[in-house]
Amino acid sequence: MLPLGECCCNYEVVAPGVRDGHRAHIPVSAFLIRLSDDSLVLVDTGMSRLHVADPELTWRGSPSENALVPTMRPEDSLLFRLAQLEVAPQDIDYVVNTHLHFDHAGNNDLLGGAKFFVQRAQYEQAKDNPSFPNQYWNLPSLSYELLDGKARLFDAIDLFPTPGHCEGHQSVAVDLSETGTVMICGDAVYCQDNYDHDSWGGQADPVLARESALMLASVAAERQAMMIYGHDIAQQRTLRLAPGASYR
Ligand SMILES: [Zn+2]
Repeated sequence: MLPLGECCCNYEVVAPGVRDGHRAHIPVSAFLIRLSDDSLVLVDTGMSRLHVADPELTWRGSPSENALVPTMRPEDSLLFRLAQLEVAPQDIDYVVNTHLHFDHAGNNDLLGGAKFFVQRAQYEQAKDNPSFPNQYWNLPSLSYELLDGKARLFDAIDLFPTPGHCEGHQSVAVDLSETGTVMICGDAVYCQDNYDHDSWGGQADPVLARESALMLASVAAERQAMMIYGHDIAQQRTLRLAPGASYR
């Protein structure tokens, strides 16, 4: 896991009814997978590195300006994290975007050599939609393969449509040789509080999001997979980070 900074927001953005009014720093991350043939897959790309110098870059002048404030140290940029692993952006062969929000696709622009996997429903929703800032991902230099539902990649990665956070959101099950299966939920589940308090009102379509999250939990139980939530600081502090990486 590559820790890529934090986003400062009210806790009800992720789990309404649990700690309303509390200002929270929610973590943003990406995941780097090396396949057995040595090719590299990145799951999500974090917030744009440009937020290190200008936290308000994306949302200045919009209703989200104070609601979502990126907090990034220089070492929280994807470029820096990859360099710590001696990986250059052009070494990334594939990218899976769970979805195209600014904190999950913010460095797609760096990865022109990769093939991107996105659900078609998400691509269509996000295109020319200011809620999914297009400058980071909707570029002629990037090549997207659009998926229609479940998919299996490289005999090791299963993609599950988990709509509710947005249309065509997808979660990613990765079979690891050492530790079994890991389920990267993306924003289908923000944090453990969503399950513990049955709190889904932070999602665009709470009813659909709840269905998707319950489906994911049952797939994870069946496969004895560890679930990694999208923005859970308590959980992320327990996970194995990429060598050299650290939290604030
Ligand atoms: Zn997110």
